[in-house]
Amino acid sequence: MTRIYNFSPGPSMLPEAVLRKAAAEMLDYHGTGMSVMELSYRSKEFLQIIERTEATLRRLMGIPDNYSVLFLQGGASTQFAMVPMNLMRTTAQADYINTGNWSERAIAEASLFGEVTVIASSEDRNYTYIPRDYYSSPGADYLHITSNNTLEGTRFNEFLDTPDVPLVADMSSEVLSREIDVTRFGLIYAGAQKNIGPAGLTVVIVRTDLVGKHASGVPTMMRYDVHCDSKSLYNTPSCYAVYLAGLVFEWLEQQGGVPTIAALNESKAQVLYDVLDESQLFSTAVNPADRSIMNVPFTTPSDTLNEKFIAEAAAAGLSTLRGHRLVGGMRASIYNAMPLAGVQKLADFMRQFERDNA
Ligand code: PMP
Repeated sequence: MTRIYNFSPGPSMLPEAVLRKAAAEMLDYHGTGMSVMELSYRSKEFLQIIERTEATLRRLMGIPDNYSVLFLQGGASTQFAMVPMNLMRTTAQADYINTGNWSERAIAEASLFGEVTVIASSEDRNYTYIPRDYYSSPGADYLHITSNNTLEGTRFNEFLDTPDVPLVADMSSEVLSREIDVTRFGLIYAGAQKNIGPAGLTVVIVRTDLVGKHASGVPTMMRYDVHCDSKSLYNTPSCYAVYLAGLVFEWLEQQGGVPTIAALNESKAQVLYDVLDESQLFSTAVNPADRSIMNVPFTTPSDTLNEKFIAEAAAAGLSTLRGHRLVGGMRASIYNAMPLAGVQKLADFMRQFERDNA
């Protein structure tokens, strides 16, 4: 068996220890004679799984009691609609910061439900930076940001202080990668398939005072209050994904938790940015102060060389380095489960490729 280094933006690598544990428990979970996939979601075993998964996430992120943790389905894309459906209420007006493709999608969706004000955008320079000067609109129901931009490779290093306007963040591609003060946010959401576990699960962390004040007519499955009241068991949850997320959270705790993985993530990213900063061949368009430590886009000056790089890297066991079609070039997604050794192997490969193609 050979495991390769997978730089996919998601679904992406999972910790090998987690996959091994899941494999060992696959046929007979804790003496039940069943796989977790076969357990009733109302069984005591599954209730323990979902409760433990939530408790571990709460410890990892320091989530206070006045926040609910929801395990939902529909991907982060469904949150693009659920956020406005539930939180646009007083003025039906929300502020958005447009920092890339996923922000654009969130804005388009929110516009279906109310008035959206884009208070800042980095579209003028192909989303290669994070805007700095902006103010939230008085009376806005919330301010939405994409805290890490998966395609473009930027991230917010600092978050706007918005005492009167709840800050809502799509953290899909960076949740659990660095320390975050949850109390700065009204709502955080993330699709699971990067730093949490398998696709099919979406985690929402929402301050409870924001829940249940939505306008009438919101479908039951789209209401945060319904999922809060039923502890994510209003209907069948994505049971196996919740279980695997729990294993990933426990693995993360065993690594030393978010501070430890954050320091490792910083060093992993630095290894790649050092290559890019020294290189005459590879470059990245991202403003250095706004560089993501999760998604690192880069390119050579020619499409032909990019193709050659992607093919030769794949042959060397460095997989899925093609950049998103909207950005082109290459992108290395180096989420929590990517070991430092994988990033070092990529860095060495890039240096060698540059020597061979000088
Ligand atoms: N937001 C961000 C920042 C993402 O990276 C992605 C997926 N790559 C999405 C939203 C959409 O997520 P999903 O496919 O889970 O709907």
